[in-house]
Amino acid sequence: MPHELPKAYEPGAIEARWAEYWVREKLFQVETPAPGDSRPVFTLLLPPPNVTGRLHMGHMLNQTQMDILVRWHRMRGFITLWLPGTDHAGIATQMMVERQLAKEGKKRREMGREKFVERVWEWKREYGGAILDQMKRLGASVDWGREYFTMDENLSRAVREVFVRLYEEGLIYRGKYIVNWCPRCETAISDLEVKHEDVAGKLWEIRYPVIGTDEFITVATTRPETMLGDTAVAVNAADERYAHLHGKNVLLPLMKREIPIILDDIAKPEFGTGAVKITPAHDPNDFEAGKRHNLPQIDVMDLHARMNENAGAYKGLDRYEAREAVLADLKEQGFLVAEKDYTVPLGKCDRCGTVVEPRLSEQWFVKIAPLAKKAIAAVESGEITITPENYKQIYLNWMYNIHDWTISRQLWWGHRIPVWHCGDCKEVIVARETPAKCPKCGSAKLEQDTDVLDTWFSSGLLPFTTLGWPEKTRDQAVFYPTTLLITAYEILFFWVARMIMFGCHFMEGHEQDAAIKKASGWGDKKNDSVPFRNVYIHALVRDAERQKMSKTKGNVLDPLEVIEQYGTDATRFTLAAMAAPGTDIAFSESRTAGYRNFANKIWNAARFMFMNVDRVDPGLRPTLSGLDTRPHTRLDGFETQTLEDRWIFSHFNRAVKDVNDSLLTYRFDEAANRIYDFFWGDFCDWYLELIKPRLNFEEGADTGQARVACANLVNLFEASLRLLHPVMPFITEEIWHAIYDGKPPLKSIALSAYPQADEMQIDIAAEVEMAILQDLIVSVRNLRAELKVEPKVKVPIEVFAHDPAMRRLLEQNLPAIERLASVEKVTFVEASLEKLPGARSTSRFDVHVVYERKVDVAAERQRLTKELEKIEKQLASAQARLGDEQFLKKAPPHVVEGLRKQVEEATILRDKTLAKFKELG
Ligand SMILES: [Zn+2]
Ligand SMILES: [Zn+2]
Repeated sequence: MPHELPKAYEPGAIEARWAEYWVREKLFQVETPAPGDSRPVFTLLLPPPNVTGRLHMGHMLNQTQMDILVRWHRMRGFITLWLPGTDHAGIATQMMVERQLAKEGKKRREMGREKFVERVWEWKREYGGAILDQMKRLGASVDWGREYFTMDENLSRAVREVFVRLYEEGLIYRGKYIVNWCPRCETAISDLEVKHEDVAGKLWEIRYPVIGTDEFITVATTRPETMLGDTAVAVNAADERYAHLHGKNVLLPLMKREIPIILDDIAKPEFGTGAVKITPAHDPNDFEAGKRHNLPQIDVMDLHARMNENAGAYKGLDRYEAREAVLADLKEQGFLVAEKDYTVPLGKCDRCGTVVEPRLSEQWFVKIAPLAKKAIAAVESGEITITPENYKQIYLNWMYNIHDWTISRQLWWGHRIPVWHCGDCKEVIVARETPAKCPKCGSAKLEQDTDVLDTWFSSGLLPFTTLGWPEKTRDQAVFYPTTLLITAYEILFFWVARMIMFGCHFMEGHEQDAAIKKASGWGDKKNDSVPFRNVYIHALVRDAERQKMSKTKGNVLDPLEVIEQYGTDATRFTLAAMAAPGTDIAFSESRTAGYRNFANKIWNAARFMFMNVDRVDPGLRPTLSGLDTRPHTRLDGFETQTLEDRWIFSHFNRAVKDVNDSLLTYRFDEAANRIYDFFWGDFCDWYLELIKPRLNFEEGADTGQARVACANLVNLFEASLRLLHPVMPFITEEIWHAIYDGKPPLKSIALSAYPQADEMQIDIAAEVEMAILQDLIVSVRNLRAELKVEPKVKVPIEVFAHDPAMRRLLEQNLPAIERLASVEKVTFVEASLEKLPGARSTSRFDVHVVYERKVDVAAERQRLTKELEKIEKQLASAQARLGDEQFLKKAPPHVVEGLRKQVEEATILRDKTLAKFKELG
């Protein structure tokens, strides 16, 4: 000080400046603490956004919550590491670049793999940083010095290491399997990447002639084209309808292939005809049945879901064209029995919406059971906690029923599987480094497997690969396990579960630095292999009507637009204040507008402070010696202690305690609302008003009281800014620097200490007394409102204090009462005022507002006279026109009706005004 804040609070200008400053000054970059350092650590991995991504409200919520906790921990003295990066996002990125190529009339396959991948890298270099730039604008206090990309050289090496180790341990295998195949993306996709949808469709019944009889067996299907690949018909052994057909064959229509009738529980007697067709290459259940009975697997489609040479005459047709052709032929040949309406459950590709085709293919799998076992134990034992708790059971249920994980993808963009096939002896070589020749036959004709790994394979490793694994690093000793993971429910299985499985497996035996572990509060945890100690699943952001945001509904809020309008601070505050546990956030811009007003209120309070301090003593600065949460009682030999100072510091320390407690349990809503109530209510509405009499000293008078008031004001304001900083980082940084006139003791408020409650400052006596005073002031305000006293009119009041202490309290605080309740004079009376009209009585005092409505009779009469003249004029004119025959003939009916109404209303108004006139006497 002195420092001028601009009159208007303009978040846009302030925020861009500080966001840039934080990055430029590398304020959030963390050096690895040396052995012997025993400070606590707080480590958090940013769920890496897709490199193709654009910031949406989900990110904004996720990052707000993370940043609040990160800033809070950093200010509490934790070594705080928030690790940012992006995911290469296999399918998403490949599709993005393919679309770009399509505009140039180019195709991926024509380009060839190498050129295509180079093109994706080019795209990444040019556009890949967009989402991180958006994060910078949000003020996310991540360590940009450690930014990673999942296809970085070191991370890619770690991925190969993991693949090879799992293979060597017998946990990776290759096999033919029915997978979900997207014919558009030309790749296998995991169960999690299939969207299920029920659509109105048909069920067709087809009959197959039983060879050697004149009977038929009827089966039903929603995908008749797959019958071309049937290799059996199954009936249930207990189904007596078919007992006489056991051991016989049917002739598959159209294909004229003999296929057996088999006995299998897949056929349910109570369902339809009780007989089912078995197509092992095109249905996952049939695939299993086929394995049980050693049936051939006949794949009738290619990777684009077109019929192949195994489909006979239908070769070359698309699956839907084939369906029509098959049905027409079946009908013509008398095999189609019925066509019924039916609700068909369809699986669609999560990326492109194409209907998924179950397809038999050669894939790589992770044998999941041994990994799942450790991951279940870590959560069941409480070594990892999941909040809210209901997600723990959801996680466990899924883990208990988990299937082997298909990790290969038929894409070009991603981590290529480190497997080579020998062209001569067909040996399969799994290696960390590209082999020069086949170890079995010495051939140099080696070709690398064309598949890449599922994107979640590499992101599942991030908690340790970003810390230098497979090397044993000091970073791992310090920062692993990470403290917390904040993420969305939708990636609980994709990502969270995989991180737990990989972490527990590959970090088995790892031990965190003992001193740091203890200081961080994990002394009682046994298992240091877990990737994180806690998982917090955040809610969804919906629109103000609680509708899920979706592009089709057009209700998607772009966080950057909201920020543009209200500022990042107000947007962050909204997301924090509305994040009640267990409920989704119905994001309403009116709330954000309200929190922008909150920021504005703080801004104006700061301007008030600067103005007064500059007048009293421009040299006043906040003291950072710990005095900050206590009221000054002495300053330069002047000693005083006022009720409002004792009270506000007491309330401040209570707020501090509550906010710290709330953040400890992820109650962002409680923390934000508590700060709001303190800052707006206690501090701005009451305290600033209460100290005004002390600040209004006359020229030449002793400034002792004013100096103490200013010192307390500055200290309290500075401490309140620190309390608010994690939620509203920008405005707090701006005012904090202004308080120090641009020469603060630290580079940023983010590096200062978070307020901690000082129980000694809880002053119950002051709180009780202030509550009484506030009660009296609010009572007078209410009485004034009831009596319709104009705001600027000061009124006398009478007070009956129920005991001498009460009277003393009120007498000591007369200036406050007079000022805050617009009171002219306080008279103490000796008898109860309870019975008086316009009085209010409490257990401590009775108060009466002495007020009679005074009216200037002469002026009022004059006003009413003028009013009457105007009304009479209108009335006369309307009546005259209604009496004019000529006019009435020509005028349209609605005009005449309008005039009649006018006459009616003017008459009523005239009578009312006349009555008022009479009242004046
Ligand atoms: Zn697709
Ligand atoms: Zn070989």
